Amino acid sequence: MKNSEIWKKTKEWLISSDLVEPNIYDEYIKVANLEELCEEEKVIVVKSELSKWYLENLAEPIKNNISDNVGKDIKLTVLTKEEFEKEKEIKSIVSLKKERLLVSGYTFENFITGSSNINALNAAKSVIENLGTKWNPLFIYGDSGLGKTHLLKAISNEVSKENVGLNIKYFTSSDFRKNILDSLMDGFKEIEMTKTKMNDIDVILIDDIQFLANSGKTNEIFFNIFNSFVENNKQIVLSSDKFPEQLNGFDKRMVSRFSQGLSVKIEKLDNETSLNIIEYKCKIANINLSSESKKYISSFFGTDVRKIEGIINKIEFYFIQNKHKPGELIDVDYISKILEDYSFAPGGEITVQKIKDVVSQYYGVNIKSIDSSIRVQNVVKARHVAMYLTGELLKKNYSEIGLAFGGKDHTTVLNAFNKINKFLKEDKLFRSALKKIKKDIVS
Ligand code: ADP
Ligand code: MG
Repeated sequence: MKNSEIWKKTKEWLISSDLVEPNIYDEYIKVANLEELCEEEKVIVVKSELSKWYLENLAEPIKNNISDNVGKDIKLTVLTKEEFEKEKEIKSIVSLKKERLLVSGYTFENFITGSSNINALNAAKSVIENLGTKWNPLFIYGDSGLGKTHLLKAISNEVSKENVGLNIKYFTSSDFRKNILDSLMDGFKEIEMTKTKMNDIDVILIDDIQFLANSGKTNEIFFNIFNSFVENNKQIVLSSDKFPEQLNGFDKRMVSRFSQGLSVKIEKLDNETSLNIIEYKCKIANINLSSESKKYISSFFGTDVRKIEGIINKIEFYFIQNKHKPGELIDVDYISKILEDYSFAPGGEITVQKIKDVVSQYYGVNIKSIDSSIRVQNVVKARHVAMYLTGELLKKNYSEIGLAFGGKDHTTVLNAFNKINKFLKEDKLFRSALKKIKKDIVS
């Protein structure tokens, strides 16, 4: 039943009851509305404090009447329009947080894919469908921050969802080593117990096995466990930062066992995947980045999802601190401010060459003249802007910049920075020109 219908019924009932004087009803109750925060939480929205006062006194019988009409117990509050709007906002933030909690686990669904990682995801899915029989071990490798742990945990979650009763165990390599070392210290009985415990596992996942290199006795036991898993068609999933053959500190027999199943690499993210991940993480964080901002982040951090998450957390934090309205658009300037104190390696997309290209085009000067010593006004301006942006966007120091601009010394660069800073302070038009140039560079 619609709230308007429910309210109509309740009002009819109120008129016919002797709970309220007709003149009070006409003036204060008839004009109120029934709304809801959720199905069980109804709100009478009133137009004045006096109306609120009258209705609060009637809240109990009204609540009972509505509960009877809808066939279930409801909660009822009386709020002014402003109070109701505020409550609604709080409610939506709370439900968003809940939603975020739900998606914060490691799943296949929240693993965003593109050409760099689709093979790894498909391999993970396929292993689940053929546990222990098809590809054993599954060996996932790639640089840090690209989702290896995410995939291992997603496999573990997915397997346990679909195979209740299976004993699935995820180990970081240090947990794994500690488990084995502890038992070695405690003597023969403990070793046997550890072996039995390992035998009870049906699916074992060990993360970052490069850290197990050179660990002597642990390795030997690992090798035994490994073999018995394979023999018994129990699935093993391993991750590492390197391809098996490049792992040092394991003996040859082991290395060849690692690659006997299926080895898949997670490659460095391509631009599109990195943008998709940024898009997705922003959606979860409820922040609205302009498309330049996304490209900007991607160009600096695009190769490492962990860094992307870090920067998005930072933006979210600033955003809440500065009490911005939800949904407010965040532009490149805002982000570069946040990133000012961030030390990062220059990203793949932005290069000194690109900066020179965009700047020389903007000022209509020949790109070669930027590196020259020509003192024509426009060229000087373009040169200074390009130097300044190289410092800002690529975090290079004065000497490095000088070198990249035809071998100028660092005082020349310092001079350029001083000039640009002065313009930025005094000249509004210049500020917006710089903003536009920056946008063109990062897009
Ligand atoms: P690794 O183990 O390779 O160092 P992680 O699995 O710990 O990397 O990933 C770092 C963070 O980035 C994690 O929070 C993870 O959920 C997230 N992440 C990595 N790849 C993706 C992806 N493709 N889609 C969504 N989130 C990802
Ligand atoms: Mg990891």
